[in-house]
Amino acid sequence: MTLMTADAYIDSLRQMKKRVFMFGDEIEDPTDHPMIQPSVNAVCMTYELSHHTDHEALLTVESSLTGEKINRFTHLHQGTDDLVQKVKMLRLLGQCTGCCFQRCVGMDSFNALDIVTTKMDQALGTEYNVRFREYLKHVQAEDLVVDGCMTDPKGNRGLPPAEQSDPDLFVRIIDENNEGITIRGAKVHQTGAINSHEILVMPTRSLKEADEDYAVACAIPADDEGILYVYGRQASDTRKLEGGNIDVGNIRFGGHEAVVIFNDVFVPWEHVFMSGEYPYAGELVETFAAYHRSSYGGCKVGVGDVLIGATKLIAKYHGVENASHIKDKLVEMIHLNETLYACGLACSTEGARTSSGTYLVDMTLANICKLNVTRFPYQIASIAQDIAGGLMVTMPSEKDFSHPEVGPLLKKYLVGAEPYPTEWRQRILRLIENLTLGLGAVGYLTESMHGAGSPMAQRIMLSRLADLEHKEKLAAAIAGINDH
Ligand code: SF4
Ligand code: FE
Repeated sequence: MTLMTADAYIDSLRQMKKRVFMFGDEIEDPTDHPMIQPSVNAVCMTYELSHHTDHEALLTVESSLTGEKINRFTHLHQGTDDLVQKVKMLRLLGQCTGCCFQRCVGMDSFNALDIVTTKMDQALGTEYNVRFREYLKHVQAEDLVVDGCMTDPKGNRGLPPAEQSDPDLFVRIIDENNEGITIRGAKVHQTGAINSHEILVMPTRSLKEADEDYAVACAIPADDEGILYVYGRQASDTRKLEGGNIDVGNIRFGGHEAVVIFNDVFVPWEHVFMSGEYPYAGELVETFAAYHRSSYGGCKVGVGDVLIGATKLIAKYHGVENASHIKDKLVEMIHLNETLYACGLACSTEGARTSSGTYLVDMTLANICKLNVTRFPYQIASIAQDIAGGLMVTMPSEKDFSHPEVGPLLKKYLVGAEPYPTEWRQRILRLIENLTLGLGAVGYLTESMHGAGSPMAQRIMLSRLADLEHKEKLAAAIAGINDH
């Protein structure tokens, strides 16, 4: 099998025995839990579309490792066209789900690891890339979801891993023998972790010699008995437990994050891709970050399309869609959203081949993409809230609209323009609330700020990558300063 179906994916999750905690209890059946199910549905779209006649060409690709037809989420990019197709695929999935579909961190990790393990092997005579590609062949053949697992808790942000008062605040190797390594620590903000088949651990920052034990990259089955998951709650999350399907806003899809705790997990050598090579940790982080920063130029744009559509609809339901200022605000939303897409495409078309053969996005433009993503979704959300009006946050619950006495009165008094039913207005207001304040804002707003690195991380990269001396020379030449 190289292309799994959505049903087979759900079955494969049900067969895993993960230890998942939520609201103070260990839960039995995470795949079918109403809090988690919307996020399973979102990942399912990455499988459904790979079998869809209209989208198969975008979602599938020939493996560079085996020649088999595989899901693009498990692919090593073999040209700038692959990088462009990735961004297009992510926009499409954002449009279809209106949320984070969780599978891109693994894809971006594969490409980063392929590049950096190749460099390590070339410089150090190791065989990490051979191992990694064997592992990736397995991922491709089984069409697995892999959680690229990077962000450590970090403790005191001013101190490197080895100087923390608790040495476990970054994932580290605590033991090593002929068979493999044992790791301990935790990773936070892990997107889609509970929906994953595999966990792919990587370092979260550049490291020095004293931090050698923290330079670890390895793959672990997601239901390893040493791993614990604690589900991260989201704004308004218990609306998913209320029944009904209006107040959640997005009736079928959602994202999730979790804290992942590694309680002394053994990893055999064939699944270890970095073990103490601290000089390469920073490059792995930067390479991964560049890919993921470009990914946001796809997924966030797709979700932005949904929010723009919702804003247009609510303007119609309010009866103001033809007002000139409304039209102009919609144009502003489009401008902001398409600028993000332009950045995602630009860093992809300007990508280049690396020594492993895998193509890497243009680092400067990928960081520009992400820096814009830290701002524009907030501006788009602000316009959506402006046009939605206050009812978005004062509207009674779905159950009140169904109440025999007040329900008909609410439908009468909260109606908008004819011929649109009150319920349509309710649904769209709840969707805008979801994306700008509620469950969906986790992915659309706060993750836009901090995912793939907070804004300062992009600014630091830009200050390093920009050739300011070259620009000085340009200005000096134009101004006639000859001895510059
Ligand atoms: Fe993919 Fe976007 Fe979710 Fe990251 S935030 S995993 S790029 S959908
Ligand atoms: Fe992310």
